[in-house]
Amino acid sequence: MGKLVIVGTVAFDAIETPFGKTDKILGGAATFIGLAASHFNIDAAAVSVVGGDFPQKYLDLLSDRNINLEGVEIVKEGKTFFWSGRYHNDMNSRDTLVTELNTLADFNPVVPENYRDASVVMLGNLHPIVQSSVLDQMTKKPDLVVLDTMNFWMDSALDDLYNVIKRVDVITINDEEARQLTGEYSLVVAARKIHAMGPKYVVIKKGEHGALLFHDDNVFYAPALPLEEVFDPTGAGDTFAGGFAGYLAKTNDISFENMKNAIIYGSTLASFCVEKFGTERMQNLSNDEVHKRLLQFKQLTQFEIELG
Ligand code: AMP
Repeated sequence: MGKLVIVGTVAFDAIETPFGKTDKILGGAATFIGLAASHFNIDAAAVSVVGGDFPQKYLDLLSDRNINLEGVEIVKEGKTFFWSGRYHNDMNSRDTLVTELNTLADFNPVVPENYRDASVVMLGNLHPIVQSSVLDQMTKKPDLVVLDTMNFWMDSALDDLYNVIKRVDVITINDEEARQLTGEYSLVVAARKIHAMGPKYVVIKKGEHGALLFHDDNVFYAPALPLEEVFDPTGAGDTFAGGFAGYLAKTNDISFENMKNAIIYGSTLASFCVEKFGTERMQNLSNDEVHKRLLQFKQLTQFEIELG
């Protein structure tokens, strides 16, 4: 069975969209990644930190999905990472209203002994020094390291970010962030520049416009499934990354061809995530529902053309 280490925030989020508003609910990059990866029956472990204010029921929700939580430190006297964001009417862009690092500010991640030989490491959005420290703890070189990041870390820890980017095989990043990281408007040129920073594979997420996978001179594009209802895009990027990494850990094949399938799995899972607030839709998502949507995806993109 493939082993997957997931690093990222386990958090409280407060979200505003044109459709409504939540108080503090369960969020965090590692949470969304873990819920997505739990669909692949792999041995997955989360590495993160929460405060004493974090409800046990949220932790139970993750362990019920077979996510190992030994590496989630609970700082009793501390407060959990809190993020709040407001989406614009197009639902593709958002403003961060609050980022309170709290216990994350002095977090020293510890990868559980039993997961230091994992085949896949998913470095979810977190301080790049924490992401690097997780790689330092691996006793066997992972087959695949995937990194996700965001503008917050480009603004506050760019050199550390460059240092960790050098060490990964795949980076998943959204279009706006790819442009910020490289100073290039063209995503093709941006992907080439990111290749030069280290990662052999670059995945650029374009929200409702799908995702692009770049490798050398090859490009693969997967649309996002056109949905009737997009309620809250929070966590869609992480869910995509969790589906991508989970599928690759499960299939143990990191070829470009198989990464295309991983992108389709990631996009499929992300299409559920946006249908309800926060993690709500992902909490009870069945494999059957995922399967049906994969078929829809196949139909959406399949065509036959006679080329003379
Ligand atoms: P996404 O919508 O996929 O970009 O991810 C949203 C999740 O990222 C939310 O659940 C937040 O808790 C988490 N998040 C927001 N800002 C940060 C940050 N600076 N570092 C780590 N995680 C964050």
